[in-house]
Amino acid sequence: MENQGRTGHVFSIDVEDWYQGIEIPMDQWKGFERRVEASMEDLLDLMARYDVTATCFVLGKVAEEHPELVQHIHEAGHEIATHGYSHEKVYNLSPERFRRELRHSVGLIQELTGERVRGHRAPYFTITEKSLWALDILREEGILYDSSVHPVLNYRYGIPNADRQPSVIESEDGAQMLEVPVATYPLPDPLPDTNVPCGGGAYLRIYPYRVQRWFLRKIEERGEHISVYVHPWEVDPQHPKIDLPFRVSATHYWNLDSTLPKLERLFQDFTFRSYRDVFSSELEALSE
Ligand SMILES: [Zn+2]
Repeated sequence: MENQGRTGHVFSIDVEDWYQGIEIPMDQWKGFERRVEASMEDLLDLMARYDVTATCFVLGKVAEEHPELVQHIHEAGHEIATHGYSHEKVYNLSPERFRRELRHSVGLIQELTGERVRGHRAPYFTITEKSLWALDILREEGILYDSSVHPVLNYRYGIPNADRQPSVIESEDGAQMLEVPVATYPLPDPLPDTNVPCGGGAYLRIYPYRVQRWFLRKIEERGEHISVYVHPWEVDPQHPKIDLPFRVSATHYWNLDSTLPKLERLFQDFTFRSYRDVFSSELEALSE
C-alpha cells in the first residue's frame, strides 16, 4: 500500500497493568497493586503537551476494573480499540475462546464509549503462523484493522517474512481487513527477510534515543509508514519487582526510567496520530 501523503505516523498504547504483561495467568492477578491509572495519566499528560492523539488498545480486564479510565481516555480524544480480554497468547486459545473474549472485551468498551471498536492488537503480537485463523474471526466480528502481525523473529511472536507495511488482507470469502505492523527496519541483502524491530516497547528502552531516531528516519526516507507503541507500565519505574523467568524479566524491567524522556523526544521529532486518523480513508472504504 502506498504512503498516500499521510500526515503523521501512528502512536498506540497497549493499556494493561504491569502484572498483566508478564505471563501471569488472569486468575492470579487479584493481589497485585493496581497502577495502570496513574501511569496512563502520565502518558495522557505528555500526549496533550505535544498534541499527540493515540490509539489505546485497552485490555478487557482493564475496562472492567477501571471504566472511568476508559471514559477519560475517550474524552481526551484518543481512539479506543481492543487488546483482547485475558492477555493470553492467541495461539494458546481455541478459536471459540478467542471469539468469546473478543466479543466480551469489545462489548465492555463500546458500552463505555458509545463508539464502535474498529481495531485490535493481540497480546504479545501473538498472531503468528499458528494462529492466522484469528484474522478471519476478527473480520467476522466487525474489526476493520489489526496490528498484531510482527515481521520479526522473537521467542514469543513474529512472522519474519510478513509484510512490513500496511496492507489489505483478504479471506477466502473476500472479506477484507487492514493489517498494520509496528515499525521494523529491513536489513539489506544478503539478509533478506531480516527486519530489525524498532516500533517501541522494550526496543525503545534498549536503544539509545539517537539509534531509535536513526531507524525511524531511515524508514521515513524509504517513504514508508511508521507505527510505534508503548505500555503504561513502561513509564512507571516504581512498579513492583517480582521474580520472573530471566527472558521475561530482562526485557520487562530494562531501562524503565528512559521511556518518558525518549517518548518526549520522539514527540518532538515526529508527528503521531491514531490509527483511526492516519488510516481514515482506508477504514472508510473497508466499512462500506
Ligand atoms: Zn499486552
